[in-house]
Amino acid sequence: MEIRLRGHHLLCLLGFRGMGYSAAFSANMTRVYNELRESPETTIALVQGPDDLCTCFPADGQYHCENRSVAKHDEEVIRRLGLETGTRVPWSTVLERVRAAIAPEDINVLCVTCQWRSYGVCEAGVRTIRQGEGLPPLP
Ligand code: SF4
Repeated sequence: MEIRLRGHHLLCLLGFRGMGYSAAFSANMTRVYNELRESPETTIALVQGPDDLCTCFPADGQYHCENRSVAKHDEEVIRRLGLETGTRVPWSTVLERVRAAIAPEDINVLCVTCQWRSYGVCEAGVRTIRQGEGLPPLP
């Protein structure tokens, strides 16, 4: 099984603690998170535009998944990780790239406009991965 993910969601997953845009969105993200947590060799297809997490964005929400600014965010994260859109990598490789290329405080620059950033969970998530650990259990 492979999971289709866009660039910035590689970082969002590190900070996921169960919050999300709706119950259905969070349930889908929980499923993906647990799959990656339990099977770090799961193949990630790095896609451009909406991915397997965007599919559950609520219909009554302010849809932003195809905004140019979000695509630019994806490109920045992919470039920073030394990865390439359109390729496939195991999730464990994503974690290795995060350890090598992203510092916790980088979230404040890379994700400056994100509504979730102020919770501090993504910064903490990067810190956990840089300590050599995998994805922690969800609260
Ligand atoms: S701050 Fe926002 S965009 Fe950045 S990793 Fe966290 S949830 Fe994703």
